[in-house]
Amino acid sequence: MTHEQRHTLTEFVEFPDHDQRTESAEFRKNKRLLVSQLDLPCFICGCRDQREVHHLHEWALWGALDPEKVLDTLHMFDPYGFTHKMGEQPIETPDDIRNLLVLCGHCEIDGVPVPGGHHRGVDAGVHDLTFPIWIAQRAVKDGMSITKAVQHVKNLDAKLRGKTSEK
Ligand SMILES: [Zn+2]
Repeated sequence: MTHEQRHTLTEFVEFPDHDQRTESAEFRKNKRLLVSQLDLPCFICGCRDQREVHHLHEWALWGALDPEKVLDTLHMFDPYGFTHKMGEQPIETPDDIRNLLVLCGHCEIDGVPVPGGHHRGVDAGVHDLTFPIWIAQRAVKDGMSITKAVQHVKNLDAKLRGKTSEK
């Protein structure tokens, strides 16, 4: 048995002024290492579809963050062990390997393709859910679903089919 609970959230964030984000050489190098060389799967579902690299501490917030406190957090959330390995080496950019997490940019849940996957997907991605719901997806029992990701895609498909049949 399950029961559904709707949680509508309005998030206000004060972003510090920052330059237009560009993909740094450091980011490209680290993405290559994580995805191509180490072949790490999506942290949530373990698939390897259209892998993307997520910044644990957002690029756009970096100017408001204390790098020492960031490092303290990364010592506790260290999925690949890089922070442990690098010890107290200061962290100077959000593109540092210790701040990156591999997520899928597309995945299939119960045979339904979910665009954006566990990075940007509606009702699936780290940018679209609160942390407790997002991380719980990693541990969900086979055959159970805790979000509306699949329903969302099915609704979109139905809408698109509706539109094309109107023509
Ligand atoms: Zn995934």
